[in-house]
Amino acid sequence: MNKSMSGTCAVGLVIVNGPDSAAFTQGEVVDITIGLLRGWSTLYKLAGTYSPVRPRLLFTVDYKFVTLTVDPATIPAATSASPTGADYTAREPLWRDPALAAMGFGPGIAGIASYNTSLLNKAWSIGTATSAYTVFITKYPAAWMAYTYGASAYMVLQYPWVSTNGSGFPAGGWGNSWPNVYAHETGHIFQAPDEYFASSCSKTATFGALNVPNSNCQTTATEAVSSCLMFHNTEDLCNATVQTFGWVDADGDGVLDVTP
Ligand SMILES: [Zn+2]
Repeated sequence: MNKSMSGTCAVGLVIVNGPDSAAFTQGEVVDITIGLLRGWSTLYKLAGTYSPVRPRLLFTVDYKFVTLTVDPATIPAATSASPTGADYTAREPLWRDPALAAMGFGPGIAGIASYNTSLLNKAWSIGTATSAYTVFITKYPAAWMAYTYGASAYMVLQYPWVSTNGSGFPAGGWGNSWPNVYAHETGHIFQAPDEYFASSCSKTATFGALNVPNSNCQTTATEAVSSCLMFHNTEDLCNATVQTFGWVDADGDGVLDVTP
C-alpha cells in the first residue's frame, strides 16, 4: 500500500484496447496522455501550495498499450448509478485479466500486485520509485466511470464515460475536466477518502499513515465543507487531505514526517 504522496511514483498506464466500440482513436490516446500530465500537474501544484516541505513528488509512467480480441458486446453495459460489488466483478475481470495475461502477468489482484512490484523494481532513468500503482484505461464496459482500490494500488477509468457528459451511461461524466478525476483517484491510491455526502463518509474515520480523521466529510447533503480534490475534484485541498497525503512536517526538521 502506498503511504504518502512524495518521492518518485511509478504509474503503470495500461490502455486496454479492443475491437469495435472498445477501439481507441489516436486522438483519444493523445487525450489520455495529456490527461495524465494534467492530473500530475494538478497534484504538483497542490504539493507546492500545501506541503510544508516541497515533497519532491515526481510521477513517471510505464506505458502499456494492449489490444485484446475480446468482443466488447460480450461484456454487459453499466446499468446502475449505484453499482454493487457484483456489478464490478461482472465486468472488470473480463477485460482486465486478458490484459494482464497479454502483459505476462497472472489474473486478478495478484497479477496487478506483480506488475506494481515490477514497477518498484524497475531501473528508471531517474532511479527507483518509492511507490507504484496501475491505471487501467479502457472503452470496455465497467461498473463505474472511475474507481480505485487503494489497498490493491490500482484504478480503472472507463474512458468514454468519465471523459464525456456521460450520455448513454447511468450517470454524467466529467468531460474535459476528467484529468481532475484521475488526480482524485490518485488521492485514493494514497489513502485519502471521499468527502462528498453520497460517499457515506464519516468525520471520525481515520486514514493514511498519520491516521488523519476525515474531518471535511460532508455528513448531510447541504452541509458546507471546504473545497477539496477529494470533495468534488476541485484543484484545492482541505487540511485533512493535506495531512492524509503525508504533507506534514510537525517537528519542523525540513523533512516530511512520513516517507513513502
Ligand atoms: Zn473518490
